[in-house]
Amino acid sequence: MKALVKSKAEPGLWMETRPVPEIGPEDVLIRIRKTGICGTDVHIWNWDDWARATVPVGLITGHEFAGEIVALGRDVRDLGIGQRCSGEGHLIGKTSRQSRAGKFHLDPATRGIGVNEPGAFAEYLRLPAFNVVPLPDAVDDEIGAILDPLGNAVHTALSFDLVGEDVLITGAGPIGIMAAAVARHVGARHVVITDVNQARLDLAAKVADVVPVNVTQQDLRDVFPRLKISQGFDVGMEMSGNQQALDQMVEAMVMGGRIAMLGIPPGKSPVDWSRIVFKAITIKGVYGREIFETWYKMIAMLENGLDVRGVITHRMGVDDYEAGFSAMRSGQSGKVVLDWS
Ligand code: NAD
Ligand code: ZN
Repeated sequence: MKALVKSKAEPGLWMETRPVPEIGPEDVLIRIRKTGICGTDVHIWNWDDWARATVPVGLITGHEFAGEIVALGRDVRDLGIGQRCSGEGHLIGKTSRQSRAGKFHLDPATRGIGVNEPGAFAEYLRLPAFNVVPLPDAVDDEIGAILDPLGNAVHTALSFDLVGEDVLITGAGPIGIMAAAVARHVGARHVVITDVNQARLDLAAKVADVVPVNVTQQDLRDVFPRLKISQGFDVGMEMSGNQQALDQMVEAMVMGGRIAMLGIPPGKSPVDWSRIVFKAITIKGVYGREIFETWYKMIAMLENGLDVRGVITHRMGVDDYEAGFSAMRSGQSGKVVLDWS
């Protein structure tokens, strides 16, 4: 089969021919139809410090996918050949205290497909049946291929009650933009989204009913009178990984505000803890998706009018993957979806 592989310890990914994976008794074999390129895949392409320390050379990459089940392990029940599906790319252990309590997303032994284990940038993927998420007709393959990052957005957005609240999102990358759409869908009063990249803010305003603020040109507080925000934002979602954005968020929150942090700062970054203490701010770190509650909620929202399709700006055949990665690396794209069919 065709597979996109981290063949060499240098920038790039290479299309190789690999054997179709063999499946165990509790696995399924998925024929991949569409995949999304993630910021993580760009780190792996770039071969930065994180990628070097994490990803084994020779690994099949990719973790955002939709496809169709073509083979079932002998112990697999409740799934069938031909079932359209996506799936949770975090492979969890079953022995930790967290897993045994049903908090699968907090299992410390988690391994990621396309990061630690063979991934989805291939014609076929082996996945434990446990990780499979069947797709209803309302969720087509290209939306199925971006459920992993949409799940990051949903997990973050549903961390705190948003009904009637004023929400600040820092970072209008694909995940920030989808989180904005989710926040509006579940009833936030206003959603303000910041970035330093005007193209991304324009995309955000196209995809969701949000107020974009380019923080290189405008003071965040300038929008307060128009939106009748008196003290500040009730809920923040940090989705840039940028220290300045977090500082700005803390300053713009109400007393007792709540912040969900998805963005990953590149290294250690200084935090003005006294501001956080005196403002009595709650901060929650968010990792991955809740398995499988986030999946349930996001599919229910997609079936009920949540529309994030506009975040997909590039669609191409997998043979053009280099163009897809350069679109991602340009910082001008939303999601890039590759077609394997
Ligand atoms: P992205 O890199 O595409 O988007 C980040 C955006 O932040 C960019 O548009 C960038 O211009 C913007 N930005 C930079 N400086 C800013 C500033 N000072 N103020 C406001 N915006 C600023 O990333 P993405 O794919 O949308 O993911 C969002 C973040 O979430 C990234 O940090 C990513 O690493 C992280 N992430 C975390 C998890 C997790 O499980 N915790 C999962 C996926 C992604
Ligand atoms: Zn991803």
